[in-house]
Amino acid sequence: MTMNGEMLIGFLAVRGTEGAQRAFNPATHKEIDAPVFGMGGAAEVDRAAALAAAAFDDFRNAPLGKRAAFLEAIADNILALGDELIERAHAETGLPVPRLQGERARTVGQLRLFARVVRDGHFLGATIDPAQPARQPLPRADLRLAKVPLGPVAVFGASNFPLAFSVAGGDTASAFAAGAPVIVKAHSAHLGTSKLVGCAIQKAVKDQGLPEGTFSLLFGAGRKLGETLVSHPAIKAVGFTGSRQGGIALMKLANARPEPIPLYAEMSSINPVFLFPAALANRAEAIGKAFADSLTLGAGQFCTNPGLVLAIDGPDLERFIEAAGDALTARPAQTMLTPGIFDAYCAGTQRVDAVPGVTKVAQGEPAGTRPNAAQAALYVTDAARWLAAPELEAEIFGPASVVIRARDFGELIEVAERLEGQLTVTLQIDAPDAAQAKRLLPVLERKAGRILANGFPTGVEVCHAMVHGGPYPSTSNSMYTSVGAAAIDRFLRPVCYQDLPDSLLPDALKQANPSGVWRLVDGEPRAPGQAAAFAA
Ligand code: NAP
Repeated sequence: MTMNGEMLIGFLAVRGTEGAQRAFNPATHKEIDAPVFGMGGAAEVDRAAALAAAAFDDFRNAPLGKRAAFLEAIADNILALGDELIERAHAETGLPVPRLQGERARTVGQLRLFARVVRDGHFLGATIDPAQPARQPLPRADLRLAKVPLGPVAVFGASNFPLAFSVAGGDTASAFAAGAPVIVKAHSAHLGTSKLVGCAIQKAVKDQGLPEGTFSLLFGAGRKLGETLVSHPAIKAVGFTGSRQGGIALMKLANARPEPIPLYAEMSSINPVFLFPAALANRAEAIGKAFADSLTLGAGQFCTNPGLVLAIDGPDLERFIEAAGDALTARPAQTMLTPGIFDAYCAGTQRVDAVPGVTKVAQGEPAGTRPNAAQAALYVTDAARWLAAPELEAEIFGPASVVIRARDFGELIEVAERLEGQLTVTLQIDAPDAAQAKRLLPVLERKAGRILANGFPTGVEVCHAMVHGGPYPSTSNSMYTSVGAAAIDRFLRPVCYQDLPDSLLPDALKQANPSGVWRLVDGEPRAPGQAAAFAA
């Protein structure tokens, strides 16, 4: 496909006039010649938002099968882009080709998972409490609940997942699944990748005969376009993955609107890993090597990167530090996504370097002349110093981690109590550690959205039971997940229909259940075939 630098507003290709930008290759530190992308502004946000608002009712009322087929068509169209997509993403992000191939598979799998979620219809929460006209002392009305989408959704593409959390990523897939039109603000770090995927979605909208405003893709330099999008009255919810600073700024904007809207921001997390005594005694070296693998995966540019390790001081912890340090020392420097992210990583490690009582115990191979290549780093400090230096808790986005030596289990709990909200917490435990782990667990449940044992937090399965969320500041709203089937709930709200005639009810609540979804009738789950088994 010959790519141009025009935005996609509904079915139109629109060249933005608010500045121009070329994509950038972080591995060569050079601009990519073609195309030149035209940046949009308020006029383009307005056009896309007006189209999305006009599309909303038709899109959300399309049969569930059609919505599911649309998600599957996007997946097929992304695969049909073939190597061009992977090559472009590789050039724009510096991420290795196998990683991008894996990410494409995840993106396609995610879209197909949401197609299944849509067909199955559980997400609608269809619930029927039939009328009880003879109830004493008062009759009960016929009450029926189903969830409806909030309205058009704005999605900010993430820098670190150019496919799985960008234009057709988890936020977009879950919003479409909910029945919401989507306007994506492409991340400026991968404009060409965004355009290719945007075309795949646009084609699916056309081919499935869906309304034009179901999808738009905007480019915007600086903060203005994103701010205008979040402030636009037609936008009813936002999905964001990025920095804490950006997430907080956009949260404030979303709350300050005349009509405040939910902004689901996934921001910063350092994903503590607790090493328990028996696990350390039995397998300190193996844990150390596996930890180094997790820390350096994708140059550490994962929201689930293990940025903090906690254990009780002693010779077994030294064995872990030595093994992890040895493994890290042999790791080559890796290209980061953007010069800005590389600079932020260097600033983060320099900040930790400057804290008294923190020792750098290992460093990866130097980058030499390679631009934007991060050198892994491992630091050690003691719990008392960590507790006294709040700057040590700030996320360093990249392959750096801090090990905390606690005096005893009591001090370990004290540190755990002080942790900010996290996406994940990991326990390395063997059988004799169970009693201590049980004491720590209630603290960790207050802190994190996912608690895992004897693994590492990187690698987030896309499935029904996944929670990729957590208390602030890991996300802006700990009640929801941004990965997995339950991510759809972020874009839905319940409506109760009281005594409405059957013809006016949504299909999921009609007596004959034409959409064939599971329902809760008088508190009992009913399979689709049991539709007529209660009185209207
Ligand atoms: P970012 O700076 O927060 O940007 C993310 C997106 O939001 C971009 O599209 C950006 O626009 C937009 N944006 C940011 N602040 C905004 C504001 N105040 N108003 C309107 N739009 C705004 O994140 P990033 O570029 O991905 O990376 C920067 C840092 O974020 C990294 O160094 C890292 O610390 C952190 N990060 C964390 C995670 C995580 O999962 N924990 C993931 C990615 C990044 P532009 O494209 O125009 O800049």
